[in-house]
Amino acid sequence: MKVFPSGFRWGTATSSHQVEGHNTNNDWWLFEQQPGRIRCGHRSGAACEWWRRAEEDFDRMRGLHQNAHRLSLEWSRLEPEPGRYDGHAVQRYRAMLRGLHDRGIEPMVTLQHFTLPLWVARQGGWENPRIVGWFAAYVRRCAEWFGDLVGLWVPINEPNIVVALGYLDGRHPPGAHNPVRARRAVPNLLRAHAAAYHALHDIRPDARVGTAHNIRPFDPARPDAPQDRWIAGVYAQAFNWMWLDALQDGRAHSVLGHWHLPECAGTMDFVGVNYYTRDRVRFVPWRLWAGFVRRVPAPEAELSDGGYGEIYPEGLYRAVREAWRRYRRPVFVTENGLPDADDDVRPRFILEHLRALHRAIAEGVDVRGYYHWSLVDNFEWAEGWTLRFGLIALDPVTQRRTIRPSALLYAEICRTNGLPEGIDNVEGLSRMATKRR
Ligand code: BGC
Repeated sequence: MKVFPSGFRWGTATSSHQVEGHNTNNDWWLFEQQPGRIRCGHRSGAACEWWRRAEEDFDRMRGLHQNAHRLSLEWSRLEPEPGRYDGHAVQRYRAMLRGLHDRGIEPMVTLQHFTLPLWVARQGGWENPRIVGWFAAYVRRCAEWFGDLVGLWVPINEPNIVVALGYLDGRHPPGAHNPVRARRAVPNLLRAHAAAYHALHDIRPDARVGTAHNIRPFDPARPDAPQDRWIAGVYAQAFNWMWLDALQDGRAHSVLGHWHLPECAGTMDFVGVNYYTRDRVRFVPWRLWAGFVRRVPAPEAELSDGGYGEIYPEGLYRAVREAWRRYRRPVFVTENGLPDADDDVRPRFILEHLRALHRAIAEGVDVRGYYHWSLVDNFEWAEGWTLRFGLIALDPVTQRRTIRPSALLYAEICRTNGLPEGIDNVEGLSRMATKRR
């Protein structure tokens, strides 16, 4: 049996817009209405109906032995207009957070997960430096409203993805393909994180505030080609490390630009790592529009649904080990998962990634928790409902849920705080877990 440290958090992660439904007052809702933005013209719609009935899924989490959940608060619900706060939304989130505690599930709270209130987006979103003050004021309120119920906080989910998909490849709002605009957003994202960190600590000195940073190893497609090695290094710095370096020592350096941001230094109590896949990159000088690279999966690589990426468990080991080596802060795996509608790969995916994580822990990395993405199929941004990340399958029309075998496998891991012998026998285990339930 591979045992995890005692007190290890085992859970899942979600985000407000992807699960709540009818978040009509943010930039994503607007984006979804524009033709051609979302695959198959899908929309978030009622999503997983969490705004009304999240507690039913909290019961499922408890039934699956999870003791932690990472969820996000929807800024556009809590502050629908500048400076006007919605008491009903505050009460609803308090009820949800209490509902988690009542079931023995510790919440980790993200304060902004991709969506911006329309009033913020209309004034330039992340490109407007005033967003730092607006965000800080909202976070201060959240600390007052929810600080008694939350110990672990993540101000901004994946600022690197916001820049990559929102400002460079245009798949997310504001739909820009513009390095100048991307450069403008970077320091505001970093400063907003820092302002949130300081606001949370002012009001709740015991708060622990970290990241949920998408870390992706970049490897040269041709290991002997210096140009591939060079471009892999450039990407690793711009996508992975620049952001975390800035929160460690106040300096951000990469091909995107150079910033000195003293207020950011020391604003990371833990490093949250979102890990999905790696990129093998080949330098192609004429592919200006594609950032001078072609992504080439390893010839033997197994790919997940919809070409989402290579399944590469070693990447989780590399990501957490490198995060620990660089920053020496407790590490949480704040997201890890794959799209797999048939659930024929997910059980093995979970086992192999957790083995890789266990190896890092055995070598001394201080890992405190693992949050699988996700509990239930949910609205997958520009991919709509075409990619299914849930341990639980969802029919978004009927809201019918079906527990996938991988959920039962994961439940056994959560229950035993480890990877028991024979856990590879997924079928037997599913039978066992079903009986126990
Ligand atoms: C995001 C999630 C998303 C997941 C799967 C992460 O980058 O934080 O919102 O659903 O990836 O693509």
